[in-house]
Amino acid sequence: MKKVIVLTGAGISAESGISTFRDSDGLWEQYRVEDVATYDAYLRNPELVLNFYNERRRQLFAAKPNEGHRQLLRLEDRYDVHIITQNIDNLHEQAGSTNVLHLHGELTKARSDRDDNLIIDIGDRDIHLGDLAPDGAQLRPHIVWFGEAVPNIEPASKLCEQADYFIVIGTSMNVYPAAGLIHYVPRQSPCYLVDPKAVPISRPITIFQEKAGTGVKKVVDELLSL
Ligand code: NAD
Repeated sequence: MKKVIVLTGAGISAESGISTFRDSDGLWEQYRVEDVATYDAYLRNPELVLNFYNERRRQLFAAKPNEGHRQLLRLEDRYDVHIITQNIDNLHEQAGSTNVLHLHGELTKARSDRDDNLIIDIGDRDIHLGDLAPDGAQLRPHIVWFGEAVPNIEPASKLCEQADYFIVIGTSMNVYPAAGLIHYVPRQSPCYLVDPKAVPISRPITIFQEKAGTGVKKVVDELLSL
């Protein structure tokens, strides 16, 4: 089976009602990254940061996958599909996608502040100061904050090296190392982009300049017609 690797960003979840980060109504308009999404911010004001992610988790549990997430499922009949997502929501999983690799962590998980490998499922529960991991350390969101290492970048780059087809959906390609993954895709493998805005990508790519809700279907139809 040929491999389709899909890289998704906040844009694929926009039509589910989850704000993107950099659009004009995006989250960074309301919060400064250095106040909520760095380890320093967490040390400075843990309650603010925990509440920020508690709010994101509540928003997620009020949301549902949209047509963009759902269309990707159709590819699984014909291709070995792997989704690499920068999103911390679980809307790909809710839509039924089988292989989802989260680059920047997951809202439905928490981990020990002392041991990065001690990860627990919390589902829709809030995290508060005083909530402890099994090792007795404070629980923190299982999120890769700016400036932190991205442990899944290695398996993600391996997947990209094996891509027969590569699809990019709803990402401004501003956040590294995720944005660099496209450089691992073999030169001869066709690439597709779905995003209503022009996204700078320095290789030949077929562009569907529209929202995921309509654009993903077009890419999927094309791949299924080959
Ligand atoms: P970004 O906000 O930088 O870019 C969003 C992109 O989505 C833009 O290019 C925009 O044009 C596009 N977009 C907007 N509406 C769209 C739609 N309906 N269909 C398709 N595309 C649409 O987000 P990013 O590139 O993912 O990077 C920012 C970081 O934000 C990531 O690290 C990610 O972890 C985090 N984030 C995650 C979520 C989530 O989990 N849903 C939400 C916001 C931010």
